[in-house]
Amino acid sequence: MQWQRFVLPAMFFVLLVVTLPAWSDTPKSDYPVTPVPPTQIELGDGFWHDRMETNRKVTIPYDFRKCEETGRIANFAVAAGQADGKHQGFWFNDSDVFKVIEGAAYSLALHPDPVLEKYLDELIAKIAAAQQDDGYLYTIRTIHGEEPFRLQRYTGKTRWSYLEHSHELYNVGHLYEAAVAYYQATGKRTLLDVAIKNANLVDSLFGEGEGQKIDVPGHQEIEIGLVKLYRTSGEKRYLDLAKFFLDHRGVPEGRKENRVYGEYWQDHQPVTEQSEAVGHAVRAAYMYSGMADVAALTGETSYVQAIDTLWENVVGKKMYLTGGIGARHHDEAFGANYELPNGSAYNETCAAIGNAMWNHRMFLLHGESKYIDVLERILYNGFLAGISIDGDEFFYPNPLASDSTYKFNKGSTARQGWFACSCCPVNIVRFIPAIAGYVYAKRDDDIYVNLFMPGEGTIDLGGDLVRLTQQTRYPWDGKVQITVDPERSRQFTLKIRIPGWTRGECVPSDLYHYQDRAVGEVSLQVNGQEVPLELQQGYAAINRRWQPGDRVDLQLPMPIRRVLSNPQVVANRGRVALERGPLVYCVEDVDNGGQAANLILPDTAKLDSRYENDLLGGMVLLEGEGLVVDPDDPAKTKPAPLVGVPYYAWNHREPGRMAVWLPRNRKIWQAQTEKSKETK
Ligand SMILES: [Zn+2]
Repeated sequence: MQWQRFVLPAMFFVLLVVTLPAWSDTPKSDYPVTPVPPTQIELGDGFWHDRMETNRKVTIPYDFRKCEETGRIANFAVAAGQADGKHQGFWFNDSDVFKVIEGAAYSLALHPDPVLEKYLDELIAKIAAAQQDDGYLYTIRTIHGEEPFRLQRYTGKTRWSYLEHSHELYNVGHLYEAAVAYYQATGKRTLLDVAIKNANLVDSLFGEGEGQKIDVPGHQEIEIGLVKLYRTSGEKRYLDLAKFFLDHRGVPEGRKENRVYGEYWQDHQPVTEQSEAVGHAVRAAYMYSGMADVAALTGETSYVQAIDTLWENVVGKKMYLTGGIGARHHDEAFGANYELPNGSAYNETCAAIGNAMWNHRMFLLHGESKYIDVLERILYNGFLAGISIDGDEFFYPNPLASDSTYKFNKGSTARQGWFACSCCPVNIVRFIPAIAGYVYAKRDDDIYVNLFMPGEGTIDLGGDLVRLTQQTRYPWDGKVQITVDPERSRQFTLKIRIPGWTRGECVPSDLYHYQDRAVGEVSLQVNGQEVPLELQQGYAAINRRWQPGDRVDLQLPMPIRRVLSNPQVVANRGRVALERGPLVYCVEDVDNGGQAANLILPDTAKLDSRYENDLLGGMVLLEGEGLVVDPDDPAKTKPAPLVGVPYYAWNHREPGRMAVWLPRNRKIWQAQTEKSKETK
């Protein structure tokens, strides 16, 4: 038996929590569903294990090296008086270092690494030394005083004076998240003490009390960080402060603020009155996530009503097929309803991460599988395209089409090794290890199986440990075998997510739908006996007295699906996209004789799938017989083989054109091609 592998780390974490002096205040109310943390998951070889290993071995050290090369780390040493020099880079660059520390801490929690831990300890010492005596931490001002106002006007002349742009509160939100992660991974309070000292300063300055400042951060993030500090310390004032920052957005009637930042900042209305997702997409997704956290902990139902409405708006009118959000390059913002252009889509990688974080929280609030359907769509598509398979090149925007000339990726048509504003590479590094925490969750005597990944998870069900072992080749194959090993025979409900795509539902809205509307034959067996599918909120619920070694066999059909868009999305009219399982596909020049932009996929074209072992770590390709238009004589088409690769895999071989949405006939191709020529 391998119990010790799970029990010992579990005991360590229990000890950590129990030995905290005076920190025993656990939240009185919380999310009704509890996620099973990554420390209770051991992934086996497979799709995500490969990505997590690459993150640990390549991306974390790579990101730290880039932070060193670009002065992001030196800024702390200079602010601490340990080195001479000027502040380098943007005023928000401190946050990049905090994000990589957070990712490294998650990695350390799973893979003890004395060399990495020593590096982190030294880096944390620099950060602590850069903190001013009263807790303030913002290296550009510490180094230059009021000077940065003249160098970089967005910093504001004095502390906290230009919050819509200064990022003084944004940066430290990431500090709090990193500090909690490092404390949980190592038990060391070094960074946590820095975070608490800073949070106490912010708490003393901001509030409705006499002499306190009423203002809100221009870039939401501190709300999430404060909630994590509250969960770790039990200090309720951090939760109250998170709520204060949310409640003062949009200047509620009767309040004395004279500030309105506007839609870009989601500050145009009180948060509880917002019903359409507008403005900067990352800010929005972080705010909705923070609202979910605060609602779970305070029971604030008006927050829940608002984020339910906002979710319907995003998933119904503003989300790409890939799960990407934020259609516009201008302001990195949401577009109008149904404004979802393909080639000029922005879809910042950070916004995909924010959307995933938000959807996970929505699941924890409501226990419905539709949120995990969206989360899975983001993970395999809109998020994953953001990082190269080798782990050291990145997309900042993620369009759904490329003409190979428009340099959508901050001046490039390919992934880049870094950016002047590198929020995405450092967000990826903290997000990938967190994905293991999305696989399982629990509520009373229910265990949720949300994502399909090979490996073992240990779930503490009211003091009884239950081990689940998944065997699967997902996402290439829909066969999932789950071995259920309770410590002792025990009654509980296993809730296995039956993805929307097996039920004929492309997304939980009418934004996209499958052309054939067919419902797949899902098969579910327990110990070889077929079990009727009784779906509860999208989950197949199996309630029984489970014995050690019980086996669940799930078979999810993975036919190739043609996707059509709501006709209100102008860019997708007359076009079709392809999916198989959780993956969205695209066509690239490299597989299609340089004709990706001239391909047509008629409704009658037959399509097959084939596993190709030697391509980019192995993947299922889609193959069929399409048509190619002669661009010089658009009246002519001829048959042409069509090859699709998963969207996440695009742009890994040679530069070229790419398309997710293909014209269904020649006339569509011609009309849209001529229109795009006119607009150039
Ligand atoms: Zn970003």
